[in-house]
Amino acid sequence: MNATERPAHVSRAVQAIAVRLDGNPHQPDPSWTCRTCVGEVGWPCSPARTRLAETYPGDWVGLSIYMGSLLIVALTEMPTTPPAELHERFVSWTRGPAVKP
Ligand SMILES: [Zn+2]
Repeated sequence: MNATERPAHVSRAVQAIAVRLDGNPHQPDPSWTCRTCVGEVGWPCSPARTRLAETYPGDWVGLSIYMGSLLIVALTEMPTTPPAELHERFVSWTRGPAVKP
């Protein structure tokens, strides 16, 4: 499934990534790989996580909920990737005040 085939509610969550990253080049391509990092790095990469965390200052719940909405999209679009791996990649890092690389 590519970006143009996404249902409207899914597109909104995905389109909000660009707004939240606000000019940061670490955007996902349609296969959820970072467009900027070298070596097929799965998105969100470390720079994207840092920028996303900055958009939710002190609001780890809000960040976690937003990333959870993207996790739902990712689960649909990467059906062969284990769900636990996607949860780790999209949501688990949103816990607590420290953003881990
Ligand atoms: Zn990146």
